[in-house]
Amino acid sequence: MTDLTKSTVSELSRLLQQKEVSSVELTQAYLDKIEKNKKLNAYLDVRPEVSLEEAKEADRKIAKGESQSLTGIPIAHKDIFVTRQWASTAASKMLEGYMSPFDATVVEKLKLAGMVTLGKTNCDEFAMGSTTANSAFGKTLNPWREDVVPGGSSGGSASAVAARLAPVATATDTGGSIRQPAAFCGVTGIKPTYGRPSRWGMIAFASSLDTAGIIAQTAEDCAIVLSSMIGFDKKDSTSIELPGEDLTTELNSGVKGLRIGVARSWIDKTDPQLRDSIYSALEVLKKEGALLVDIELSKANLGVPVYYIIAPAEASSNLNRYDGIRYGHRAQNYSDLIDMIKKSRDEGFGPEPKRRILIGTYVLSHGYYDAYYIKAQQVRRLIAEEFDGFFSNSCDMIVAPVSTGAAFRFDDKSDPLSLYLSDLYTVPPSLAGLPSMSLPCGINSEGLPLAFQLIAPKLREARLLGVAHTYQKATDWHKKEPVLNSEE
Ligand code: GLN
Repeated sequence: MTDLTKSTVSELSRLLQQKEVSSVELTQAYLDKIEKNKKLNAYLDVRPEVSLEEAKEADRKIAKGESQSLTGIPIAHKDIFVTRQWASTAASKMLEGYMSPFDATVVEKLKLAGMVTLGKTNCDEFAMGSTTANSAFGKTLNPWREDVVPGGSSGGSASAVAARLAPVATATDTGGSIRQPAAFCGVTGIKPTYGRPSRWGMIAFASSLDTAGIIAQTAEDCAIVLSSMIGFDKKDSTSIELPGEDLTTELNSGVKGLRIGVARSWIDKTDPQLRDSIYSALEVLKKEGALLVDIELSKANLGVPVYYIIAPAEASSNLNRYDGIRYGHRAQNYSDLIDMIKKSRDEGFGPEPKRRILIGTYVLSHGYYDAYYIKAQQVRRLIAEEFDGFFSNSCDMIVAPVSTGAAFRFDDKSDPLSLYLSDLYTVPPSLAGLPSMSLPCGINSEGLPLAFQLIAPKLREARLLGVAHTYQKATDWHKKEPVLNSEE
């Protein structure tokens, strides 16, 4: 019998609807595989009995003819989304063992669509990082090679989908946390327009940037699952007042006449093997009928300094709620209230959140606020306007790198600054709130996946996914998968 865990969401949907497999069988197959590949540390919390209960309910719906296309399909959730039945920790000691009294809107919506939760995936603490090595519960391994990072912060979700420990996973992206791990693990990731999926129940990092999205094997799967995830939510004050949208409608529209802006100076600065694979991907799109136009992103080059002022500023404010009083870690030995709060924070937060709280508090403090925070907001606006300018005058979509090369080793880039600098191609679209994707486009000589980034105007996810699907119909890089140690 074929290995069901290798299937895409769209294949699984057909198998379930035609009753060729039950959701219980499918869920069990993933749970077994998760157990066998524990060493990857992709998951932080797995509760087989709860997952199987959800799968049974899905099977009942299918039997009664009450199913929808996603009914019975397993999904993993990044441990940034709060869940009632699995612990919600943001990979921090601060929230170790925390059980939320409610599900995040995104989780709730996918449950209503009939999806079965497999568990919670590992990430960098409070989604701060690019390696998943900042998790308080141990790093996640990249299934392609254990000495290289899976990327971050959604490294658990990317590693799980790459290792086929889930057909699809939710993830979050504040400055690259869906796209970069998807790139490093050879899977497909989409960060939609800021404000389209609800932030309600997403453990906050930087609220003006935090965006929920999807990591899957294909653009088609991203389109199917994301369609059930977006839509206005009154519980999120920055939610866009638009109803849901079927994002699969433009999957087969092709790219004839589509003008693609090529961020040539960015692509040329990447590692030569990555550079060549991005140019090959552009050739594929050209052959399919797209027109390539060179563009020069200049304001966007200021993305990293702007992001590393705004994101820590917002983080310092958001993380203020962890005081050891209402919930979260509380120190055992303290002399008075202030001492209790100090000690709780000192013990609960790891080094990266502490670093960001310090930077954020500094840039927001009297005397520095205008010089740093206000200035960063002004440049953020210029970056957004630069993208708008290209989209209204010269191109419909932009191709750029996701990162400067393939996944790096855990022991490379050990200082925080070099990690921050590696976010240079993912933070500009985040600052502008634009939808963007990471798509596999090669394997380098070390056997590691390579990827490119596709950036679209606001609310144009359906078109973005259509272009990505056209590329994936013409190539098979997204079908490459790692050989797992447990299978050797
Ligand atoms: N690497 C970036 C950071 O550390 C992005 C993280 C994210 O998108 N959550 O802030």
